[in-house]
Amino acid sequence: MVNITGDQALVKKINTSLALETIRVHAPISRAQVAELTGLNKATVSNLVSDLLEQQLVTEIGPGQSSGGRKPLLLLFNRNAGYSIGIHLDVRTFSIALCDLSGQIVLEKLDQRLSSSDPEQVTDQLALAIQDLTDQAPPSPYGVIGIGIGAPGMVDEQGCVLFAPNLGWEQIPLQQWLQNRFPTIPILVDNEANAGALGEYEYGAGKNVQHLIYVSAGAGIGAGMMIHGEIYRGAAGYSGEMGHMTIDVHGRKCSCGNRGCLELYASEKAILDQQKSLPFHSLHEAIQRAEQDDADALHTLQQLGEYLGIGIANLVNGFNPELVIIGNQFAHFERWIGAAVERSVKQRALRSHQQGLHIVYAPLKQRSTLLGAANQAIRSFVGRAKVTM
Ligand SMILES: [Zn+2]
Repeated sequence: MVNITGDQALVKKINTSLALETIRVHAPISRAQVAELTGLNKATVSNLVSDLLEQQLVTEIGPGQSSGGRKPLLLLFNRNAGYSIGIHLDVRTFSIALCDLSGQIVLEKLDQRLSSSDPEQVTDQLALAIQDLTDQAPPSPYGVIGIGIGAPGMVDEQGCVLFAPNLGWEQIPLQQWLQNRFPTIPILVDNEANAGALGEYEYGAGKNVQHLIYVSAGAGIGAGMMIHGEIYRGAAGYSGEMGHMTIDVHGRKCSCGNRGCLELYASEKAILDQQKSLPFHSLHEAIQRAEQDDADALHTLQQLGEYLGIGIANLVNGFNPELVIIGNQFAHFERWIGAAVERSVKQRALRSHQQGLHIVYAPLKQRSTLLGAANQAIRSFVGRAKVTM
């Protein structure tokens, strides 16, 4: 026997999420436009919207354009219905922000030093920072609706960090550990480059771009890919390990076990690996010297750019994106690596693939990942929206 009531409740829940997501993405929007975009009939939309208004998830503003007859009221997603927390966990630092539901940052702490890379200590430090922002969140109907975290390395569907060689982590159930600390707030952990791609898609260079790749370059290299507004994850969720594509068959040995991986040549690792022969020992020092026109530093940064360009050309040839966004620390380095990246891509990407291709430096700078992580929590909240029957 079919459970009619149960089925109806499920249909209503799905339709509610669909209507709310449509309003979130397309606001300001009229009820008629919601009906058109979702394929739901006008009476259904009207009912769902009254419930959403009552639940304070949607607000109404003054009349919009009309094609004749009474001008419709426009709907907005209520950005102040609650707040989302986004975190970018990097290799030596983390950044955290509290945002409203439109991704506007209300409070933030950028580039906080990790006191250790020990996973339990990192969890303690993140938990303290989360508690601090949660305590400061302005009053709202739903409070803190979720916490998103972008972490370096491979992350499974349960938010377990399977392998993060740059942190020295293996099999760390970060999502579960934090969920134990904050049992009432949904927590999502994803790969930091995936979160960065989503952040730029929703709030940065990638708005309305259907095929984009976000390249997170700094201590290591990773890539996140967005296809038609969704993250491309691959069969098991591990796509985007761009840093471990082989670019030198007999090259240096990598922490992944292979040889000649891109990130050994195009990230800070290139500097760390050649410490003995270089007069500087970190990306930060290289930039400081480059700012004083130091020839060694300028040359090293150009080399990083050249290799990063090779990696990007390989992705461009393989995936034919319309936009490549260079993010994480390298988002700030266009001045030093820009020409070399461009030269490399021009030389190695197929000409057909270069047509209409744009390469930009993440306009959200070090906020791409934390905003993407916050947006994942917002998307999940909208997906859970349930209106009582
Ligand atoms: Zn590798």
